[in-house]
Amino acid sequence: MITVMKFGGTSVGSPEALQRVVKIILNEEGKKIVVVSAMSGITNFLVKGAESLPDGKTDLVKKFEQMHIDAAGQLLGAEQMGKFRKDFDIRMEKFREILEDRAASEGPYYIDNISSQGERFSSLILCHALREAGARSVALTSEDCGIYAEGRPLSGSADLKKTESMMTIKVKPYVDDGVIPVITGFYGVKSDGLPLTFGRGGSDYSAAVVANAMNADLLEIWTDVDGFMSADPRIIPDAVKIDEMNFSEAAELAYFGAKVLHPRTIEPVRIKHIPLKVRNSFKPEEPGTIIHHLRKPRDDMLRSVALKTDLSIIAINSAEIAFYPDMVARIIEKIAENEVVIYSISTSLSTVAFLVHSNDVKSILSRLNTLGPEDIDRIEVKNDVALVCAVGDNLLSKCGVSAEIFTAVKEARANVEMISEGASDVSLNFVVPMARVTDVVKILHSKYVRGG
Ligand code: ADP
Ligand code: ASP
Ligand code: MG
Repeated sequence: MITVMKFGGTSVGSPEALQRVVKIILNEEGKKIVVVSAMSGITNFLVKGAESLPDGKTDLVKKFEQMHIDAAGQLLGAEQMGKFRKDFDIRMEKFREILEDRAASEGPYYIDNISSQGERFSSLILCHALREAGARSVALTSEDCGIYAEGRPLSGSADLKKTESMMTIKVKPYVDDGVIPVITGFYGVKSDGLPLTFGRGGSDYSAAVVANAMNADLLEIWTDVDGFMSADPRIIPDAVKIDEMNFSEAAELAYFGAKVLHPRTIEPVRIKHIPLKVRNSFKPEEPGTIIHHLRKPRDDMLRSVALKTDLSIIAINSAEIAFYPDMVARIIEKIAENEVVIYSISTSLSTVAFLVHSNDVKSILSRLNTLGPEDIDRIEVKNDVALVCAVGDNLLSKCGVSAEIFTAVKEARANVEMISEGASDVSLNFVVPMARVTDVVKILHSKYVRGG
């Protein structure tokens, strides 16, 4: 039995939290592989610090170094601390070199390099804390493991095949030998050997990639809530924990805003039928949520509701566009350049509307402007909208469900700007003004979620 255990930022955010994590790892049966995020706040600190370069370099290094040494100092005895300092100084030296490298700072992947530093140090601390507790452990970076990535800056995807063959050579021998590898989450390496991050929150995805590569039997995502909940507990305080979900439900919710899992976490484990558990590192006695292929159907209407804010609708008007699929294809090609994510598409006779992130609108409009007036009559942009993703068992098969949901939306005095139903067999997605989205989710949750 091989279990990949991923610990998020808050789970490794303090010496006390790390101590709890050491216990959780040691209590786990069978062979284990650990993937960690940076200590909480560190990635934000690095991203902000990168903006202050080169002037802010000394300050950045000093604070970064201090935060990690302080945490390690509270966890490790003198002998282990001495060993830790040796490894720490080597990694710190590399970090300083990156900060000094003026030529690299001009490159498109420089922020990937800086922001991936936190994981290199949290993994080192945890590895030494495990050794302090008597376990055999090795701290491995994504470079050491051969976790390969490709794609644009700050939004890499793993090369699953290459990663599997590299990790089989570089990591499996440790696991077979009973050593616990502690691996950096959040980033992989490009073919030129430089880091590429998987997007914020990417350590969940890293862990799923590691589980896939090592053909693990189980992936555990240890975080700061009891499991996958019926809504974000920060918005809905009485959100309830879901005991069991299937891969599609979790994938839709994560993609459309449930921050508990990085949007791309599910696919690497789904394709290898590896079950995933979401568990609370602050309450290890709680069983958490299990996500797998099948689960028993239930009769409650909604299981969970997620929301994604800061979106915009770009509506493109062109006479009888529905009869010119080649024109629609040209428009989509322009929008999708630079790997822009399109969250929803809706068409009518003369309009095609796209739901995209607001940050992408400017670049999309400039690309659309390169199309001629024969393609496009008018473009309208509606900003400040949010998408609601409602997941449930009987959404598409039960008569009147949509009517009930939209009646609830009306109660929240929200106008529905766009709808996507039928694209997935588990979810109903719709767009409302951002100012009303919290009320919509609150009303839907209170009326239709039973939980458990
Ligand atoms: P970690 O640092 O462990 O990766 P994150 O902060 O990335 O943790 O994710 C956990 C947070 O996700 C929770 O604290 C919670 O506020 C938020 N969240 C959003 N939607 C959900 C949901 N449906 N279920 C559980 N947590 C959710
Ligand atoms: N440390 C990274 C972040 O803050 C990755 C992660 O936490 O999953 O985004
Ligand atoms: Mg996270």
